[in-house]
Amino acid sequence: MNVVTRFAPSPTGFLHIGGARTALFNWLYARHNGGKFLVRIEDTDRARSTQDAVDAIFDGLSWLGLNWDEEPVFQFSKAQRHAEVARTLVEQGKAYYCYCSPEELSAMRDEQKAAGLPMRYDGRWRDRPATDAPAGIKPVVRLKAPQNGETVLSDLVQGEVRVANAQLDDMVLLRADGTPTYMLSVVVDDHDMGITHVIRGDDHLTNTFRQIQLYHACGWDLPVFSHIPLIHGPDGAKLSKRHGALGAEAYRDMGFLPEAMRNYLLRLGWGRGDEEIISTQQAIEWFDIADVGRAPSRFDMAKLTNLNGVYLRQADDARLCDLIIPLLEKETRQSLDNKAKDLLLRAMDSLKQRAKTVNELAQSARFYVQPRPLALEEKAARQLDDNGARQVLEDLIVRLDSAEPFSRDALEELARVYSEEKLLKLGKVAQPLRAALSGSTVSPPIFEVMELLGKQESLARLRDALNRAIA
Ligand code: GLU
Repeated sequence: MNVVTRFAPSPTGFLHIGGARTALFNWLYARHNGGKFLVRIEDTDRARSTQDAVDAIFDGLSWLGLNWDEEPVFQFSKAQRHAEVARTLVEQGKAYYCYCSPEELSAMRDEQKAAGLPMRYDGRWRDRPATDAPAGIKPVVRLKAPQNGETVLSDLVQGEVRVANAQLDDMVLLRADGTPTYMLSVVVDDHDMGITHVIRGDDHLTNTFRQIQLYHACGWDLPVFSHIPLIHGPDGAKLSKRHGALGAEAYRDMGFLPEAMRNYLLRLGWGRGDEEIISTQQAIEWFDIADVGRAPSRFDMAKLTNLNGVYLRQADDARLCDLIIPLLEKETRQSLDNKAKDLLLRAMDSLKQRAKTVNELAQSARFYVQPRPLALEEKAARQLDDNGARQVLEDLIVRLDSAEPFSRDALEELARVYSEEKLLKLGKVAQPLRAALSGSTVSPPIFEVMELLGKQESLARLRDALNRAIA
C-alpha cells in the first residue's frame, strides 16, 4: 500500500508539544513506508483561526524538519465540496433535512434529561416526507446513521473498540447556513487527500465512530486509524503550560536543537527496548505504530535538556556558531567580525562539551568575543582584588610576553614552572588567570582559552585586570 499520512492542526494557537509529536509520528510513519506526509490546516472555525497560528505551525514544522510532500490543504477552501457530499447523501437517502428549531431541540433535551435518558437527537425528521417541510425554515442536514448493530474501530494502538449504534444519534453534516460541520469536513478531506493512515491523539477517539459511519454512508474505504495516548506532565496531570506545553518556537528560543526535540518527542509514547538516543535516520528505519504504548507518556523537561546536551556535543561546530552568533550579537549589541567568528569556531569543540542548550552555549562563549575591558562577574572580581592574585598576574605578564609558542601545553608548562618556583598551588595561578581572561570563575580549560585568544589579547586582558584592581 502506498502510505499517505497527514497532520491536521486547527490554527487556533502555536504548534504545541502534543501536536508536534502527532506530526512527528505521521511523518515518521510516512517516511518509514516510503509514503507521503501531508498537512491540512483545519481552519473552518473562522472566529478562532488566525494567520499567526498558521505561520507558527508551518514555522514549527519546518524547524523540526518535518517536511511535507504536497501543497498544504486549507480545509475552509473545500467547504463547497463538503456541502456537495452532504447533498449527494441526501439524494441517496443516506442523509436528510431536519427542520427542528433550536427551541425544539432544547425541549427534546429537557424531556430526555427529566426522564433520565441520554440526550440525543431522536431522529424525528429521519423519515418525514419533504412535503412536511415548514416554510421559511432553513434545515440542517443529518446523517441517517444506522440504529442497530455496532460500529467497530480496529485501531492500531487501541485495538478493536466497538460502540453500539443505538448510542450515536444522527449527527449534523451541514448547518442551516449551509456550512459543513467538522465531522463532515474531516472525513471528506481525508478521503479526497487519499489518506491511508490517520494517526492522531486519542482525544479524537469518540469522533472516530461517527466518522466511520460517515465513511460507510459515502461508500468509501476506511483509513487505518491509530489513536495515540496524550502527553501528561511529570505529575501525571494533563499537560499544561505549567509543565512546558509550549509552542515549538519556545523550545527553539530556549536553545533546543530540532534533532534533540525529534528524539525526545519520539520517545514520548514510542519505544524500542531501552534505546534513548535514536537518530532520526534510525527512527525512520525503526518506527512502527505497533510500538506505540497505550499509557499516556510524561513530559520531562530535565530529560529533554539532557538529551539536548547529547545532541549539542554531536553537532557540527560551524552550525553551532551560526546558532550562537545572533544571540551574542544581540547581547553585545555589536556585530562580530570575522576574527571573532573564527575564534568562536576554534573554541566550539571545547565549549559544546559543557553546554546543554544553545543559550547556555552562547553564554559560555560570550567572554571570547566581549569587547575589552571585560565585565567581571562579582566572584571573579573579588578574586582579582587579592594582592597575591595581582602579584601572580604581574609576574605572568612578563613571562607570557616572551612565551613561544603560545600553545596550551607550553603555557601550562610555563604556569607550572612558575608555581613551583613561587611554591604556589597551580590553582592559585590558574584562578586569577581565569578571572582576568574570562571574567568568570568557570570557563573552558584556561590554557586552551589563552591559546585561542592569542598572546596579544590575553596579555591585554591581564593588564586590564591589573589596571582595574589598581584603580
Ligand atoms: N484539527 C484537529 C485538532 O487539531 C485534528 C483532527 C484530526 O486529526 O482528525 O485537534
